[in-house]
Amino acid sequence: MDSDTKEEIRIEHKIDSLLSALNLEEKIGQMTQVLHFEDQTEAEIAAGRVGSVIHTQGPLPGKGALGWQERFRVLQELALSSHPKIPLLFGVDAVHGQNTFEGATIFPHNIGLGATQNAELVEKAAAITAMEAQATGFNWVFSPCIAIPYNEKWGRVYEAFSENTTLTNILTAASVRGHQGNLSDAHTVMATAKHFIGDGATEYGVEGGVTTLSENEIEEHLLPPYRTAVASGVGAVMASFNIYEGIPMHAHKRMITDVLKEQMQFDGIMLSDWKGYSKFGEADIINAGIDMVMAVDGDLELFQKGLKKAVEEGHVSRERIDDAVRRILRQKFRLGLFENPYSVDTFIDSIGSQEHRDVARQAVRESLVLLKNEKNLLPLTPGVGKIVVVGAHANNAGLQSGGWTIDWQGTDRNYTGATTILEGIQMNSNAEVVYDPDGTGEHTDADVAIICVGEPPYAEFFGDIGHESNSLKLELSTEQKGYLEHYDKQGVPTVVVLLSGRPLVTTKEIKQASAFIAAWLPGSEGDGIAEVLFGKYNFKGRLPHSWPASLDDFKGKYGPNHWEGSVEPLFPLGYGLSYP
Ligand code: BGC
Repeated sequence: MDSDTKEEIRIEHKIDSLLSALNLEEKIGQMTQVLHFEDQTEAEIAAGRVGSVIHTQGPLPGKGALGWQERFRVLQELALSSHPKIPLLFGVDAVHGQNTFEGATIFPHNIGLGATQNAELVEKAAAITAMEAQATGFNWVFSPCIAIPYNEKWGRVYEAFSENTTLTNILTAASVRGHQGNLSDAHTVMATAKHFIGDGATEYGVEGGVTTLSENEIEEHLLPPYRTAVASGVGAVMASFNIYEGIPMHAHKRMITDVLKEQMQFDGIMLSDWKGYSKFGEADIINAGIDMVMAVDGDLELFQKGLKKAVEEGHVSRERIDDAVRRILRQKFRLGLFENPYSVDTFIDSIGSQEHRDVARQAVRESLVLLKNEKNLLPLTPGVGKIVVVGAHANNAGLQSGGWTIDWQGTDRNYTGATTILEGIQMNSNAEVVYDPDGTGEHTDADVAIICVGEPPYAEFFGDIGHESNSLKLELSTEQKGYLEHYDKQGVPTVVVLLSGRPLVTTKEIKQASAFIAAWLPGSEGDGIAEVLFGKYNFKGRLPHSWPASLDDFKGKYGPNHWEGSVEPLFPLGYGLSYP
């Protein structure tokens, strides 16, 4: 028997004895995840009725990294002095770096990492994210999203690596490895593969909508990344908001218990999504195989009392509860939380460090996909005299970073430690650089106009095309199209840098521009773009999605590459130019 197996057996024994010491309320407590700032949080933890604490949007845990750690230390001390004496898991939506902490290193969103096709780099980015998350008090992240987006109208396309299953598999393995390393090390965290299953494959790309894919399609296209994640030892999986076979995924026993837990042998924590209990069938979700519930935003009492009653009345078996708690405790043991329940301050200096930013900048460079480069306008030569940089996206770190940056829905301001695209251009060239934020300047003498356009930040359903909350389109705004028009008319060669969470229909603009770059959502290191524009590095990025030619391509339930009919994309998956 090897030492890993011995350790696993030891853990199961420890769980046996812990389980026998817990009463039903305490067991349900382990299955409960709460927000760190809600009124009842401290009292519930002190009473031994909480298993995990989440931070996402809303009040910050404290001031500075040490302040955040302090807040979680206080909560951990409460848990450890309660009757069960079981340490808490602290989870956070660190989906492209520790993006809830201002000053952290913010990586390109997963779609950009998908464009790099660089597993080693994805692993490094995940390891850095883990370290910065640990440094701010967490031992668990709700990442990576390993969806296969079927329709670019979905507001979460950018959270996933690619529409391609094989590429997603490779990067999933890298991401899980990077986050978790040796799970018990002080600088690693538990990862979460999300959202199981079909989040990105709903009709018309509606967040939480209906997927009508066949079992075979799900098997072939959506499940393989989960197989990979489980084989890589992912600690948690989060259930999805969508409906499949007429059943909300949270309550889909066949998929969660039979497929994920039994066939794939996933032995970690199946986590609900936000308010999953009240939204998707209460005790049904526990019977389907959900082990821990995000009992937030008014759901806490409902969940704890409701589940207790369901057990007492025989609707949920005590074996199911024990199985759920066993899975939670198993991960707590694997993380080494019983011996080391607190974050260490060792990694605080690494937050947003140069070393970390250098990796993020490399990721930015490698994520850029060059779609057109007429007459080799790029790379810009050292001799270039005057450059106009156009558009609000050019000088705004928030706009270049997308949703899940500082705030849930992202931000439209510059944030601490970030470098904008304009700053990068100024740093990397001796030319005269003029900034034209609204694309109305007269600069007929310019050698080139670098036009930065794209989407505003959004997250979740707020990013769905067609959702009542927004006026988003799968194309540039009229105003942004006008920038290109305006400089084209002045006879200035144009380079378009598109900052978006998904491919946009830009057939006309690609024709009009001299050069066109899909830059996705690069995050904090905007200067990575200039390093490639000026030829310090070559373009390496390759399209992680096929690029639609026309808005008509979206008339079906699913997008161009997954449509029943055959749609010819403007550029195929994997396309991308480089300098000779
Ligand atoms: C999202 C998840 C996220 C969770 C916690 C949900 O609304 O769907 O991806 O991890 O919130 O913030």
